Amino acid sequence: MRMAAAFAGLMAMCLSASAQSVTPPGLPPLPHLTSPRLYVLDCGTIISHEPERFGLSRQDVSDPDFSDPCFLVMHPKGILLFDTGLTDAQVGRPIYENRIGYEGQLKTTTLKGELANIGVTSAMITYLAISHSHWDHVGNGNAYAGSTWLARKAEYDVMFGSAANAVAKSNYAALAHAKIQYIEGDHDVFGDGSVMLLSTPGHTPGHQSLYVKLANTGGVVVSGDLYHYPAERTQGKMPAREVASGTPESRLKVDDFLARTHSRLWIGHSIDWFRDAVKAPGWYD
Ligand SMILES: [Zn+2]
Repeated sequence: MRMAAAFAGLMAMCLSASAQSVTPPGLPPLPHLTSPRLYVLDCGTIISHEPERFGLSRQDVSDPDFSDPCFLVMHPKGILLFDTGLTDAQVGRPIYENRIGYEGQLKTTTLKGELANIGVTSAMITYLAISHSHWDHVGNGNAYAGSTWLARKAEYDVMFGSAANAVAKSNYAALAHAKIQYIEGDHDVFGDGSVMLLSTPGHTPGHQSLYVKLANTGGVVVSGDLYHYPAERTQGKMPAREVASGTPESRLKVDDFLARTHSRLWIGHSIDWFRDAVKAPGWYD
């Protein structure tokens, strides 16, 4: 009994000292990495039919629906979860129960399960970051409030201000009690330049995109909602409300970043991109 208690205490110490290096019983050990790994997680599908809201016609898009991925970065110094998708509570529920405006939510797997497939639990995640606080990116926020939340003040103020969406807020309210590390500008997550949170305001005041420098794949920028459809990029279109909110400037900034770093852009909501992506438990490195 005493030994068991001592072991539990040692495990707790190890977890707090180096969360990424300790695997809970029953899970396979995490890989020993020398450079980042990037996982694409299925966090739901949004049934949509109004590309006009993004300045496009139905003929401009091959499929009006949206994928809704989450992303996990495994780095030698820790684990970052970027976005939490549609809430796991919607798995198995019919679309008509989960409509927000003109959009329906389809969820077939849980984020918790997606993570379990790669041997990760919420307790092992060092950092949580969200591209922004809309409902399709924060659905499981409460479950990751034990991680250090890399937050932007401008987005925090929207999330916990009087105009916050009550339904979305119910899914992330626990983050108010998380350990919060406020970040500004472009933030180097692990201090070696390989994982960056790029400030890209416009869609929301504290919107951000994720850059990961991968040894074999090369540089990748995960757009967040800087774009929804690829045709927005090729045709220079965007939601009308974003023309003067910062999105044009953020898009130019990302284009410059992509050129300088020889990186490619992943538009997470593009169902065409998602269909062809290597999804967890596979990965990019
Ligand atoms: Zn979105």
